[in-house]
Amino acid sequence: MPLVVQKYGGTSVGSIERIRNVAKKIKKAVDEGNKVVVVSSAMTGETDRLIALTKELSNRPDPREQDMIVSTGEQVAIGLVALALKELGVNTISLTGWQVPIITDNVHTKARIKKIDKHRIMKHLDEGKVVVIAGFQGISEGGDITTLGRGGSDTSAVALAAALNADVCEIYTDVPGVFTADPRIVENAKKIPVISYEEMMEMASLGSKVMQIRSVEFGAKYGVKIHVRSSFNDEEGTWIVEENEEMEKVVVRGISHELKESRITLVRVPDKPGVAAKLFRALGDRNIVVDMIVQNVSHEGHTDISFTVNKVDADLAEEIAKKVIAEIGAAGVERNDKIAKISVVGLGMKTHAGTAAKMFEALYKEGINIYAISTSEIKISCLIDEKYAELAVRTLHEAFIENGEGEV
Ligand code: ASP
Ligand code: MG
Repeated sequence: MPLVVQKYGGTSVGSIERIRNVAKKIKKAVDEGNKVVVVSSAMTGETDRLIALTKELSNRPDPREQDMIVSTGEQVAIGLVALALKELGVNTISLTGWQVPIITDNVHTKARIKKIDKHRIMKHLDEGKVVVIAGFQGISEGGDITTLGRGGSDTSAVALAAALNADVCEIYTDVPGVFTADPRIVENAKKIPVISYEEMMEMASLGSKVMQIRSVEFGAKYGVKIHVRSSFNDEEGTWIVEENEEMEKVVVRGISHELKESRITLVRVPDKPGVAAKLFRALGDRNIVVDMIVQNVSHEGHTDISFTVNKVDADLAEEIAKKVIAEIGAAGVERNDKIAKISVVGLGMKTHAGTAAKMFEALYKEGINIYAISTSEIKISCLIDEKYAELAVRTLHEAFIENGEGEV
């Protein structure tokens, strides 16, 4: 009997009416002869509401207590989904992360899954039940409730699919799939039918917010077939799968943009060994993920070091940078929150030249200045002024996808 993991996002369970609709979809999968494990997010807006409550009491809420509070959104949702299923006569049981249990490390608010004990889930599946599991949450080895970071239900779903060796992990969301660019910005953006894990990881890390990046990493590591699709209709969405040769023919699969980063610059730091090590060790020790790093060529023994971090970490990163310059000596720390990162992504870049030139020319034609550039084998990212973000996405989509069919 095929085993399907279905994950429903916040908007898909955003109201009682929508939960009824979700229950019908689940019942359909059961009637078609599948074993079904459901993973649910909190109802839309609920996690934000809970976080806002903690912020009313504290500027920097204690992470353990924050997890205690924000994890409740999913508990409500799974109970409601299970109730709706029972109303349709479906045999079902809801489980929180700790009831499964989904074991994580103890890094509260951004924990990582270490192990999933599948015995209880298997037992219920064998009893013919649909198992409805709370996304986003787990339990540390010390017995505390943890959460997996915003958007973490995707990771719960893919990790469960891997642990249970599911045939497919369906991610039901409020969009029809993954697009060549944000369709709210680019009218001609197209749904991508198939994308490789690697490309999807880049797209996700670059701001295409369809899925949490860690979930795609998990999928790639364990070869979980992921199908991102709309919960509002039965159309095929986007399949995320292992890459194949055919896929390399497309140079640029998509354009993504990210507005959630801040740039921090250490101005005129002494250009000597150990400075970067000290700075990035201090950031790493506080669990701050650094994205782009740029160090200028030195002048008279001094240089500038810039890096970008997620805006939620920017206050702490700035504080750390200030502490570090007090030790190493530097002219100061500057911060810019009004930046955007625009990227082009595609497997074909591995084997085609000229993508960078074409990207810079397209931005130049619109008079858009580039602050920093970073590349990987399959992506090129440019940091620009936030106010040009939409223009840049449209321009690059036109150059690479509408006119270029992905060709350079
Ligand atoms: N409810 C959590 C959030 O809003 C997790 C999720 O939806 O995936 O971030
Ligand atoms: Mg999500």
